[in-house]
Amino acid sequence: MGHVELRETLERLDGAPYPRYRSLTGRPWPLAPGVTATLTHPQADPFAPPSRWEVRLADTPFAALDLRPAVRRRALAGFLARSAAAPRSAFRIDAGGQEVLQRSSFGVSVDGSALLRLGYHLPGPRRRIEGRTAAADLARELPDLLADHVLGVDLEQARAFVDAVEDADHLRRALPGRGLVAFVADGAVLPRASGVDDRPARGAVPFASPESLRVSVDLPHRGATTGMGIPTGVTVIVGGGFHGKSTLLRALEGGVHDHVPGDGRDLVVTTGDAVAIRAEDGRHVTRVDVGAFVTGLPGGLDPRDFSTADASGSTSQAAATLEALEAGSRLLLIDEDTAASNLMVRDARMQELVAKTSEPLNPFVDLVRSLGEDHGVSTVLVVGASGDYLDVADRVLLMDSYRCTDITARAREVAARPTGRVVEAGRFPPVRARVPEPGSVDATAKGRRRISAVGTDTLRFGEHDVDVRAVRQFTDAGQVTGAGLALDHAVAAGHLDGRRTLAQVLDLLDADLAGPVADWVDGSPADVAVPRRHEVAAALNRLRVLRVRRLPQPDG
Ligand code: ADP
Ligand code: MG
Repeated sequence: MGHVELRETLERLDGAPYPRYRSLTGRPWPLAPGVTATLTHPQADPFAPPSRWEVRLADTPFAALDLRPAVRRRALAGFLARSAAAPRSAFRIDAGGQEVLQRSSFGVSVDGSALLRLGYHLPGPRRRIEGRTAAADLARELPDLLADHVLGVDLEQARAFVDAVEDADHLRRALPGRGLVAFVADGAVLPRASGVDDRPARGAVPFASPESLRVSVDLPHRGATTGMGIPTGVTVIVGGGFHGKSTLLRALEGGVHDHVPGDGRDLVVTTGDAVAIRAEDGRHVTRVDVGAFVTGLPGGLDPRDFSTADASGSTSQAAATLEALEAGSRLLLIDEDTAASNLMVRDARMQELVAKTSEPLNPFVDLVRSLGEDHGVSTVLVVGASGDYLDVADRVLLMDSYRCTDITARAREVAARPTGRVVEAGRFPPVRARVPEPGSVDATAKGRRRISAVGTDTLRFGEHDVDVRAVRQFTDAGQVTGAGLALDHAVAAGHLDGRRTLAQVLDLLDADLAGPVADWVDGSPADVAVPRRHEVAAALNRLRVLRVRRLPQPDG
């Protein structure tokens, strides 16, 4: 029995000074045949965060699940992490929430071997090693947990989970070829249990697609699946208050990620580059060309080189839009509930009352078509209040008692009667590239790397706290930490070198983020989930000490 060694060592250490736990590092301890555990980050004292262990499982039955596609490895890791985290135990295993993301806590290889990273609080309340308790936990409870909840999982259950996630991933990849930006399956459950509980609501009205937008997609495991396909272009969602508009939009925002089977949004997907845009007054902006939206600013500030430590609602939303385009988004998701109304529209009466010469804002309603036609950027907007969007919509969806209907024809009739409103903007200009300066992206504080997250509200990065509350596609704290580590990696790896544009930096980063997590977290023991490039960029854009150089405006 291999594991007697760790047990005997811990029992021998019983009563020794706490720091001697350190002597366990530097070698793998056999726990069971084909299973070893390595103490990678011992805690310095009993009050420090739990020590970190790496458990390697060499001999598993998982290769039978066909782990060649990366999505199947990610899905299996997500399944096993959830299984291992479910029972009460002394071990802290980060399983994440409803999204199935690649996380540092669990990795699976093509051959089925697995790597589990967990936290364990080394016991020793009186600063003396409690060797017997540690031995019982690490040499008995842990091998039992692995045997029952990792190696011993029901393979057919695991296969069903993996297949379901592969279907969602396939569906997302199938969108562009069909001219779609999103798909909402018939029967999907969109509302959540509550504002703080991301599990599906009970008793919800299941989604049913309007016939005009119904498409059928053949998925590798589930076969033919019907639902609403949202084509490229401008899609406007209207409806009365409390009828489910924002819930639909939020589901689309979440559709960039795969969800656990049974989530209700299992087959609700959007193109992976969809970005939720919102107003965020008070945010920091660094040298963004918002000239598309803003033609003048008081005090002679240049909107084409706009920096502020305290943006307004409209300028923050303008900056967020340009930043999303710069990072490569081709789908903007906007909800009137969280948008700046003066950036969204200026109606006929307001145009009559306030001359265009005294209004520096070009409203989004006059730019949204050019975004699609000239830049290939689609938009899905919730607008219950502003009928002027009927003029620019390719399609209009009505949410009525949580039921979705296509009312484009009726909207065309209404829009045919002129309101007297005049169009206030021309073409959406080319997006100007920025080159971030590596010296301004510094993760060190007092000589040490400091990267951590406070929920999804704050990224602690070096000496600065980045407010990411408005970046609502961040899924959990592990992903916020991941964005910080990705930024630090971009600098350390020389991607972010003061010469490459932000988009080029993100391209290089994307390639690294697709590989093993350990390759870009650079030794961090933190529980991490892989972020998208869009959230990485969003965090960088909110860093108050960011410095950038700007490239000349490309020819429009
Ligand atoms: P709107 O944006 O149109 O005002 P919301 O999307 O905020 O409406 O939804 C209003 C309420 O209805 C929320 O409490 C939401 O959870 C609930 N809801 C949304 N969709 C459904 C549904 N399909 N079935 C049941 N309740 C729903
Ligand atoms: Mg709403």
